[in-house]
Amino acid sequence: MKVIIIGAGIGGLCLAQSLKRSGLDVALYERDAAPFDRRQGYRLHLDADCVSAIKEALAPELYALFEATSMNPLPYTTIMDTQFNIQRRFQTDDYSKTQHHVADGIATHLNVNRATLREILLHDLADICHWGAQFIRFETDEGGVTAHFDGCAPVHGDILVAADGAGSSVRTLRAPQARFMDSGVRAIYGKLTLDTARKVLPAHALADIFTAAFDSSKKLILGVGPVIFPMRPDLAAESLLPTAPLSRQDDYVGCIISGRKELFGDDAHLQAMDSHDLQAVAADLLRPWSAEAARVPEAANPDSFFFIRMTSSIPFELAPMPRVTLLGDAIHAMTPSLGRGANVALRDAMLLARHIRDIRNQEVSIDAGLQAYETEMTGYGFGVVRHSAEMGARLLGQDPLPGT
Ligand SMILES: Cc1cc2nc3c(=O)[nH]c(=O)nc-3n(C[C@H](O)[C@H](O)[C@H](O)COP(=O)(O)OP(=O)(O)OC[C@H]3O[C@@H](n4cnc5c(N)ncnc54)[C@H](O)[C@@H]3O)c2cc1C
Repeated sequence: MKVIIIGAGIGGLCLAQSLKRSGLDVALYERDAAPFDRRQGYRLHLDADCVSAIKEALAPELYALFEATSMNPLPYTTIMDTQFNIQRRFQTDDYSKTQHHVADGIATHLNVNRATLREILLHDLADICHWGAQFIRFETDEGGVTAHFDGCAPVHGDILVAADGAGSSVRTLRAPQARFMDSGVRAIYGKLTLDTARKVLPAHALADIFTAAFDSSKKLILGVGPVIFPMRPDLAAESLLPTAPLSRQDDYVGCIISGRKELFGDDAHLQAMDSHDLQAVAADLLRPWSAEAARVPEAANPDSFFFIRMTSSIPFELAPMPRVTLLGDAIHAMTPSLGRGANVALRDAMLLARHIRDIRNQEVSIDAGLQAYETEMTGYGFGVVRHSAEMGARLLGQDPLPGT
């Protein structure tokens, strides 16, 4: 049985690891020419469900490398006012309404570096990854599904999985009724070295999962999240698993300045700006708060800034279709107001891998297996989309989902 995965983001890679380890024939197609072609963000907060998905997918020695390079933060989200006075400090699970379904022995919260996680998930997949392969279309027949690409020859398989992110081309064919919306929220991201962060941020901001200073009248936030590696990734790989080399990364604190699009100005203008100009925009947005707040983006690495226009999927009823399914942002993209998109994508990967193993073991037909996956996945996935939209509306003035 052959599974074709479109997209080498974290969801597609986690699924590929899991299926390959189970002895399935897997092929993964990614439009980027190489694994780290473009900037993809810095810190990711992973919850227990997600950590358990990674544990299930990876060989034990690779999982040990993941643990050695993941920060165990204090399990809090702290809200401050614009003067950096603490307003509330609460358990992150209470805020995100996360319910964990995992056994003991799993970290419930990790702050990880996205590029390091991707390097780990890419380990030993060179034989099945096809780079520079942009998915164009698929067709299904009695005997299977065929995917067509710009950049490589068509491929035939039994199941096609769309893991191609929020702009999914597979989704436009698999679920043409799906709609996405501009959330009305914009963000500028950057990062500070740990030493610099110590000088401009309160101590708890370097220990908690996430800290946000919040201007409730403008609905503008400055958020920060640390990544302090238990072992520096390159050194961890050298000592624990030399066959899986990792790039050097130094401890840092990621920062985000986010709010309504009207505060940020013209999208096209911001998209054309370089990192230095975005840094200046971020500092100007915070200057009315205090010099202390503006100093946070000013102290960041001037080459680290990028701009994001945040979109959200709009929950809908996914009709079944033989042999083709979706995971992660391709179906239920959400704004990062809860920081849960990657968590849900990895939970999807774990669930889908289990269903595909059942199909391979002939415990269930392809159609029934995929349908059972989709019913469960859209249930929790769109649940988190709705919750992210509610939280985004409260904190950032995100536009409501239609009908809410
Ligand atoms: C700045 C930022 C911070 C975030 N922080 C968090 C956080 O702390 N915690 C959290 O849980 N989530 C977070 N998220 C959300 C999270 O990053 C996403 O939900 C997650 O990456 C989704 O994974 P995915 O595999 O579905 O898609 P992606 O990671 O987007 O991967 C999709 C892949 O498909 C490829 N692709 C696209 N089209 C094609 C095509 N036609 N053919 C072939 N390949 C294609 C793309 O190049 C890409 O590699 C954050 C998002 C952003 C932007």
